[in-house]
Amino acid sequence: MVALATRCGDAMQAENLLQILDAGARGFSRLRPARIPDVVTYSRNLFIPLTNACRNACAYCGFRSDNPYLMKEGEVLRLLRAGARLRCREALFTFGERPEEHPEIERTLSKLGYADILEYLYHLCEKALGLGLLPHTNPGVVGYQELRTLREVNASMGLMLESISERLCQRGMPHEHSPGKRPGERLRMIELAGRLKIPFTTGLLIGIGENTREIAESLLAIKKLSDRYGHIQEIIIQNFRPKRGTPMESFPEPSLFKMLKVVRAASELFEGQGVQVPPNLNRRTYALFLLQGANDLGGISPITRDYINPEDAWPEEAEIHRLVVELGIELRQRLPIYPEYIRRGWYSERVGEVIQQCATRDGYARE
Ligand code: SF4
Repeated sequence: MVALATRCGDAMQAENLLQILDAGARGFSRLRPARIPDVVTYSRNLFIPLTNACRNACAYCGFRSDNPYLMKEGEVLRLLRAGARLRCREALFTFGERPEEHPEIERTLSKLGYADILEYLYHLCEKALGLGLLPHTNPGVVGYQELRTLREVNASMGLMLESISERLCQRGMPHEHSPGKRPGERLRMIELAGRLKIPFTTGLLIGIGENTREIAESLLAIKKLSDRYGHIQEIIIQNFRPKRGTPMESFPEPSLFKMLKVVRAASELFEGQGVQVPPNLNRRTYALFLLQGANDLGGISPITRDYINPEDAWPEEAEIHRLVVELGIELRQRLPIYPEYIRRGWYSERVGEVIQQCATRDGYARE
């Protein structure tokens, strides 16, 4: 405990986290009552999986392919237009890390006139803005200049820390073949985003072999960067789901109790920030996470699937509405940039023009 606190900061915070994460049922029931949120948010979005080429090969990934596709501009534009018609506010661009390292993707990009995926992405983000949609990009690990350029056309960006554990990168572990999953690299990028004042989303992937102490360390590492730069708008607590045909297809999912404890620990540590649990990965249980302090349900798309977890359909907005209202909590649609960062003016001029069109006075999404 002392070592954990010394490495990661505040001893009280470390002790509190471990008390929650190590609790059995009796200990958990003796915790002080969880803070139930007044408002739960979600973002009506479009999920755009630009390419499934990726330089990494995480042992649980069912998305990456050695025979990859690249979405053509026309296809992306059709989606963006359909999303705009349905009053989606967020264009979520996601893709594997440094996909142009795959020769076919490099060739296709070059034929289209782009040096790399980020140049192509920039162009598509401009198109999204032109249609009144706010881009949020998960580009994998990128550097300072790339982040600075993407900031011009993104309302927010994201990179899951997943875990601070170096152990998970060792031989036989899920990140053995994923250079981009080295925790140091990921923390560095999250820090760069802070220096650039980019509203940022990160989080943990739970159930890939990490232990309690590593969960606590991961949360504390994010907290440290969040306190320093003030840019972490939300923390996602995502449960591992086994995918058929992957090396981890028979690996057990994290238990509901473990997930409840991590959500509770995150909600206590990040009071006032977004703590998100994806409802499509927890269709029958997501209400329980709200009772442990989670306050955001992430992106819900009326037209696109979760391409990373294609077997897990998103619930309808009407279903979420019924469930949240039954709990006596207000449900609000938000933008990919949280109200706090709109107040602070943490966006470029071009992004600001779209925010003006689609934000309410208090910084949520205009219905
Ligand atoms: S999980 Fe992400 S980083 Fe890992 S292989 Fe899949 S696409 Fe690449």
